[in-house]
Amino acid sequence: MNNVIILGAPGSGKGTQGKILAGHLGIPQVSTGDLIRAAMKQGTPLGVKAKSFYDQGHLVPDEVIYGLIQEILDAPASREGVLMDGFPRTSPQAEAVDRLLKAKQAKVDRVILLEVDETELVKRLLARAAKEGRADDNATSVTQRLKVFQQQTAP
Ligand code: AMP
Repeated sequence: MNNVIILGAPGSGKGTQGKILAGHLGIPQVSTGDLIRAAMKQGTPLGVKAKSFYDQGHLVPDEVIYGLIQEILDAPASREGVLMDGFPRTSPQAEAVDRLLKAKQAKVDRVILLEVDETELVKRLLARAAKEGRADDNATSVTQRLKVFQQQTAP
């Protein structure tokens, strides 16, 4: 198996670089952010629970994310491994990934950290807001998400 985690602040390029890397490795790239956006769009129970956290740039509570992580790692498409984009984002989520992989006699094989200056991150996120219109790419939410990365994900 080839289980890879791509880590970095919002706007650091996890989605863009992860896509290229997953293509090279022949494994799926799975983003919890994309799954949450799809769930909100469809109005599923997970989407409804996530919405207020998401819109304000806060992390969705771990309890909501655990099930999602389990589903991703158990999916037949993840048989050969998975490129994790946007998770784990907290220590308890990281422990959940370890535990779930261990149950399959697997492990995290590689972790990549993308480091980008904060001024550049803000520039990129506001540019993306103009292009893609993501609800959480406004100035208030961007500041909040960068703070959340430092406080909850960086450790
Ligand atoms: P992203 O697309 O990875 O930038 O994620 C966008 C938003 O989705 C985040 O600001 C969080 O509200 C939520 N989110 C995505 N992944 C996670 C996660 N692993 N844990 C908690 N919240 C998440």
